[in-house]
Amino acid sequence: MENRKIKRHAKSLQQKAHTHTVILDDPTVGRYKVISGGSGKEYIVNVFQKGGASCNCDWATKRLDTLAENKGATACSHTIAVFEFIAAGNGKRVSAWADEQDAKRQHRPVTNLADGVLLTARPVPKRYRQADFLFLAR
Ligand SMILES: [Zn+2]
Repeated sequence: MENRKIKRHAKSLQQKAHTHTVILDDPTVGRYKVISGGSGKEYIVNVFQKGGASCNCDWATKRLDTLAENKGATACSHTIAVFEFIAAGNGKRVSAWADEQDAKRQHRPVTNLADGVLLTARPVPKRYRQADFLFLAR
C-alpha cells in the first residue's frame, strides 16, 4: 500500500514537471532556470556532474536533513523538468519511477534522482514527413 502511494507521487511529480518551462542558463556549470507552470515563479536548478540536481524551491530547501543525506540533490518537479529537457535534446523521453523493479523493467539506464525517485529515458521514435522520402521517387 505504502509503495503504491510513493509510486503515484513519482508520476504526479512528472505530470507537474510537464507544466514548467525550462531555460538553459549556463551550460558550463549545468545551470537551468525553471519557470513554474502553476505559480510563474522562477527556480534555479543545478545539475551535478556525478548525477542528480539541486533546486532552490521551498520544498527542496526546507528539508535540510534529507538534503544533506542526498548531498544537495532533490527530486522535485523542477529537477525532473530539467532532466526531461536534457533528454528531449537527445531525442529521448523520461519516465519517473518510485519502484526500482518498475524502473529496471524498462531495460534502460536508471538514474537515481534522490528522494527515492528513479528516472529512465527511452528514445522517441522520429516522426518522418512525406518530404523525407521524396528522394525515393527520383
Ligand atoms: Zn524544485
